[in-house]
Amino acid sequence: ARTFFVGGNFKANGSLKSIETIVSNLNAAKLDPNTEVVIAPPSIFLLSTAASASNGVKVSAQNVFDKPDGAWTGELTTKMLIDHNIEWVILGHSERRTIFKESSEFIAEKTKAALDAGLKVILCIGETLQEREAGQTLNVCCEQLKAVADKINDWSNVVIAYEPVWAIGTGKVATTEQAQEAHKGIRDWLASTVSSQAAEATRILYGGSVTEKNCKELATQPDIDGFLVGGASLKPAFVDIINSKL
Ligand code: 13P
Repeated sequence: ARTFFVGGNFKANGSLKSIETIVSNLNAAKLDPNTEVVIAPPSIFLLSTAASASNGVKVSAQNVFDKPDGAWTGELTTKMLIDHNIEWVILGHSERRTIFKESSEFIAEKTKAALDAGLKVILCIGETLQEREAGQTLNVCCEQLKAVADKINDWSNVVIAYEPVWAIGTGKVATTEQAQEAHKGIRDWLASTVSSQAAEATRILYGGSVTEKNCKELATQPDIDGFLVGGASLKPAFVDIINSKL
């Protein structure tokens, strides 16, 4: 069985004080021991967050560069994250793809570099509203995944986050049926393109306007193995999302 996984993507939000409050809440909460919890603060807060998080909560970067240490102003390298025992990194978020013009190819290079360095990757994919309305949802997701599959063979340290762009930060959560259908399609793609073992073992998270109100129903679906949460991960109710399966 796949271990349920809940990630909190803080994006570019928070202060020393507000993140300390979030972490203290998590440290004091009763968290489902069967759920893996990873929080991703802005990079400047990675170390303070990692130092204060307990209760099994792990820390993730929101991005990393694909090249070794060098002249890359503004970037963090995989070696730096490893040096600080940061285990996870989010790659391919739609905000990186859209606002920062990251291509699927570049994201695939970064995924390979992160895995080669020993990091675990939360790989985000997802379609825009226009693509969904054109019936292209799975094609888009599978193209984004294929760029990665062309560069890596071992998916055991990858968690896929299906985040429909139209659901991110909009309050428009995918219906349970829409999410399950996409997750099933992604899992079928893994089976046919990577291996049945990878399809069976790889966690596929849903992301996009997840709240404490809609998480429980989404979590009942056979191919939904957890969530990647934005806005709600900054609030105390994040604990309820972590405990979706209880
Ligand atoms: P929201 O939960 O704020 O919609 O954001 C989802 C997301 O982008 C997580 O990576």
